[in-house]
Formats: sequence, structure tokens, C-alpha cells
Amino acid sequence: TRTIGILGGGQLGRMLSVAASRLGLRCHIYEPGAAPAGDVAHALTSAPYEDESALRAFAQSVDVITYEFENVPTSALDLLESIRPIRPNRRALAVSQDRLTEKTFLNGIGLATAPFADVQSQTDLPAAIARIGAPSILKTRRMGYDGKGQIRITDAGSAEWTGAPSVLEGFVDFSAEISVIIARGADGQVAAFDPGLNHHEGGILRTTTVPCGLPGKVTTDAVLIAARIANALEYVGVMGVELFVTPQGLIVNEIAPRVHNSGHWTQAGCVVDQFEQHIRAVAGLPLGDGRRHADVVMENLIGDDMARVPELLTTAGAQIHLYGKGEARPGRKMGHVNRIAG
Ligand code: ATP
Ligand code: MG
Ligand code: MG
Repeated sequence: TRTIGILGGGQLGRMLSVAASRLGLRCHIYEPGAAPAGDVAHALTSAPYEDESALRAFAQSVDVITYEFENVPTSALDLLESIRPIRPNRRALAVSQDRLTEKTFLNGIGLATAPFADVQSQTDLPAAIARIGAPSILKTRRMGYDGKGQIRITDAGSAEWTGAPSVLEGFVDFSAEISVIIARGADGQVAAFDPGLNHHEGGILRTTTVPCGLPGKVTTDAVLIAARIANALEYVGVMGVELFVTPQGLIVNEIAPRVHNSGHWTQAGCVVDQFEQHIRAVAGLPLGDGRRHADVVMENLIGDDMARVPELLTTAGAQIHLYGKGEARPGRKMGHVNRIAG
């Protein structure tokens, strides 16, 4: 493999491109919108996912196709896959694009999720609330991120409708949120990074802390769950698995078939970070050493947090990553800082 095609040119595509270049590989980014990754990749195609000739030319210019964004239309994927392999595979993408399919798959391999009900239209909602109860959360099946497309239902009378096919999820009374970033190579070898403790604010990831401070039994269970998912999907690449810690055990919140924001700490905490691990996996190289060699707190720089960059630039132990995005709008992820202890 010499050139890797990446669908999506956001910050994840950007950091994947940097990691690929370090390994002597080239990246070609395909991105219909604004592309922070465009200035570090070797090539950028700015075209919609409906542009068949652009898709064809893109696929022909690369050896393997991966993605940093899971909501690529099926028609585009079909065309791309007829020309080059897509890693992680289509099943991983299909399962994780849709919360209903995802939860059904997870339960099917014996993993616990929040109780859920399919809400295809407004008329399904009363029965779903009657079954799942309140408090609960109505989430659109597709396209949601950073808590977008979600409505909290506090009592049966307050039910609104998002307008799109949704799932109603029972509210999980968790003591902590953790995530496992796991890699699976083309040869089936699996390597997990240490689970991180995640703190969200307003539905957006704020910080990830490693070590997570939870008992070894919990972190081991979390890694085993992530490995079961990766193996069941015959996954190749890096995957993020978000989990709720409860007294009854671990509950899987969702999976992301790509490098994950809660894995950014690996850039400062591991010899081989999640981005390089993903590139290695999709390029068919052996996985690298992902052992944690430092205690790290990753903090996202969101919107106005950019005002703190001058101070962070002179803070000992702070590793700053800026995505080169233009305007710092509220809620927009502009960068992150990895702080190492000591
Ligand atoms: P992401 O940016 O992680 O993809 P998302 O929009 O897909 O976010 P979720 O991960 O489903 O959203 O939910 C965002 C946050 O809301 C979770 O991390 C958790 O803090 C809270 N949350 C979601 N579902 C539940 C639930 N069933 N019970 C309790 N809290 C929940
Ligand atoms: Mg999500
Ligand atoms: Mg999430």
C-alpha cells in the first residue's frame, strides 16, 4: 500500500494524514465540505458524494479506502467498493450508522445496551414510552453526533418528535463513562489502548482521563467487550466503543467505526497512537506498541476555549493540537490539548 484514500476531511482525517505521512504513505482525502485535512494530505477531492466520476477517479488513485466519517451514502460506498477495498468493512459501517441496527447487533452478540424501542413515527412514541418508561432519551437513528438529534423525555406528557426515525433509549444511571479504543489488524491481531474516563458537557466530550481509575476487573471487561465487537465484525482498523459503568456491569452506549475523540490522549500517552494504529491496520502493516507510558488528560478546545491557546503554549506538559478550522463557533471542536502528569 502506498496511497490511502480517506472519506472525510475533518480533524480526524487530518490527524490520520499526518500519521500516514510519518510512515511514508500518501493520503488522498475526499470531502464534500470544508476540509481541515486538505492542507496536510497529498491530494484533496472536493466533490459531493453523488459525483460518480469524482468518486471513480478518487478510488483509482488509491490502494485502499478508509473513512473518518461514518455517514457516507450507500450509493457512493457501492461504487467505491467496486474499485478498491474499504476498511473497516461495509458491515461495520452499516451496523454503526444506525442506532437501531447497532443495538440489535450488540444484543445479538450477548452484550448489554440500554433498553430501547424502535420509534418509526410520532404514533409509535406513546407505546415506546409506556414500554421503556421515563426518564428516557429519544435519539435519531442516523446522523447524530455531539448529542445532536436527541431529546430527553422526563415524563410521558413531555414527548416531542424529532421528525426522523428514532430509537427511544432508557436512561442509564451510570457511575462513569469510559471508552475503549481498539485496533484489529488485517491478520486478526487485536490491540486495545487503556480505557479512558470520559466527561461530557452538554452532550459534547469535554475531557478524557487515563488511567481511568476504575478497578482492573472493569477495565478488563471493557476491553473484552470491545474485542468481541471487533471480532464479530471482522473489523480492520481502529474502533471506539463507548460504555456506561453501572453497578450491574458495563453497558455499551455506542460504537464508532473509526478513530475517536476519546482516543486523542494516545498521541501523548503511547509510542504508537490511535491514528498510526489505524493507518497500520488498513495498510496491512503489523499493529504497533500502544502501551500507555504516561498519565494523560485530554481536553477538547471548543469554541471560545481558543482564547486559552496562548497560555497553553507556555504550559509545561501540554501538547497542543489545532485543527486549522476558521471560525471558533460555540460547540465547534477547534483543537485539543493533551496534558501529561508530572
Ligand atoms: P458522539 O459525539 O459521542 O457520537 P452522540 O450524539 O452519538 O455523541 P451519545 O453518545 O448517544 O450521543 O450520547 C451523548 C451523551 O449523552 C453520552 O455520552 C451520555 O453522557 C449521555 N447519554 C446518552 N445516552 C444515554 C442513556 N441512555 N442514558 C444516560 N445517558 C445517556
Ligand atoms: Mg455517536
Ligand atoms: Mg457518544
